[in-house]
Amino acid sequence: MSADAEFEYDLFVIGAGSGGVRAARMAAAAGARVGIAEDRYLGGTCVNVGCVPKKLYAYASHFHDSFSDAEGFGWQMAGPATFNWATLRDNKTSEIKRLNGIYQRMLEGAGVTLINARATLTGAHTVSLLSSDGKQLQITAKKILLATGGWPWVPDFPGSELAINSNQVFDLQRFPNRFLVLGGGYIAVEFASIFNGLGSETHLIYRGELFLKGFDQEVREFTREEMAKKGVNLHFNTNIERIEPNGTALNVYLTTGEVVEVDAVLAATGRKANTEGLGLEAAGVALDASGKIAVNERYETSVPSVLALGDLTHGPELTPVALAEAMQLVDMHFNEAKPKPLDYATIPTAVFCHPNIGTVGLSEEAAREKYARIRVYRTDFRSMKHTLSGNTERVLMKLIVDDASDIVVGAHMVGEDAGELIQGIAIAVRARLTKHDFDTTVGIHPTGAEEFVTMRTPSRY
Ligand code: NDP
Repeated sequence: MSADAEFEYDLFVIGAGSGGVRAARMAAAAGARVGIAEDRYLGGTCVNVGCVPKKLYAYASHFHDSFSDAEGFGWQMAGPATFNWATLRDNKTSEIKRLNGIYQRMLEGAGVTLINARATLTGAHTVSLLSSDGKQLQITAKKILLATGGWPWVPDFPGSELAINSNQVFDLQRFPNRFLVLGGGYIAVEFASIFNGLGSETHLIYRGELFLKGFDQEVREFTREEMAKKGVNLHFNTNIERIEPNGTALNVYLTTGEVVEVDAVLAATGRKANTEGLGLEAAGVALDASGKIAVNERYETSVPSVLALGDLTHGPELTPVALAEAMQLVDMHFNEAKPKPLDYATIPTAVFCHPNIGTVGLSEEAAREKYARIRVYRTDFRSMKHTLSGNTERVLMKLIVDDASDIVVGAHMVGEDAGELIQGIAIAVRARLTKHDFDTTVGIHPTGAEEFVTMRTPSRY
């Protein structure tokens, strides 16, 4: 790509999270002069206060079951297992520091200019940068990419300032022996499972009938049963009225009249586009009805030289989506390629609650609305591992098939490592393979996964 002398940069990225870093590196690899500004941590939410530390904590919490499962296989613990929160938290912090370093080296290695400063859009081609030591700088760029992601949002109720958000939950000074989470989305069910597994008495408070709105109904119900079996106290059709301090503890007053005394309250009530102080209004960048930045299929905002992607824009708030959007954006703007639009309908996802959920494509309910007749193949079973462990955990697997075309339009699983397994199934669903293709694939024995190719008789239509 030819350098444009009019501007200092061909691309200037605001925000070094998953999407911003990927776009910066790929654009630089295409020959663009690229700068990136970040005033917090490299790697954004995913690396610092999201996917990565969450997964490390999820691993930690699974040991709770593993210790007791091991006994049925002949293992004897010398004494009761004990858990040290500070060890987990501090080991996690060291690992994240290591990843921050890798991100820095990746950017530098790609030839991207990394600027540690707060960036504000000041025009269609200009960004003002304020570093922590008060130095101000103005840069010009042919294209500017907004990639500042999302930020946790907490509703306003009396005492809501006593709740922590999902940025703060990772670094609690003291382990909460009693933990309460408000919400019924990904973060709520994951952290309810994590703290329950780590040994906290755990409560999940959700305002609706059943958590995980939008997921397959049977998956939601199955997850409810499994989480309840593991000891999470689920309070549905309930909200928090107020929180009051009680010494070092908190009294949480629920709309049902119940009062729960806990050591920490996590508000996992969604995230908002991180647009504060970004200078959108002054630059004339428009938002959509949900407060996200409106973009066209080329990721251009209402100011065409200003681009945006990831959690700032409409679409699933998932790291791999931001990464895929970054690749598309760079292809379109810096490689002069015309990539096929992203297929948002077959984006697989996992929820790392206990047991995990893995899902791709349509829920049974959505498929019923879309197709005249569907076939549902489902099974639930106790895995072979738990025949000896004594653990009562069960697995749910489900395929949704369009009857007319025989195409598998949805696959769902609740069970150990569901995310690992659904990733492979997602290739088949995205490729629009048929149930016949599944049936003619030979299973791997003995695995739980083989059920996905051995379910022969429809459970219902
Ligand atoms: P979600 O939007 O998934 O869930 C928010 C929850 O808070 C919903 O259950 C919602 O209820 C509830 N809520 C909203 N407002 C209120 C209120 N005023 N009072 C009480 N409850 C309220 O957000 P999360 O915070 O869980 O996660 C944010 C996003 O991050 C997710 O959507 C996901 O895309 C991503 N993420 C992905 C993960 C993964 O891939 N494994 C892990 C963690 C996060 P209702 O359902 O009734 O609207």
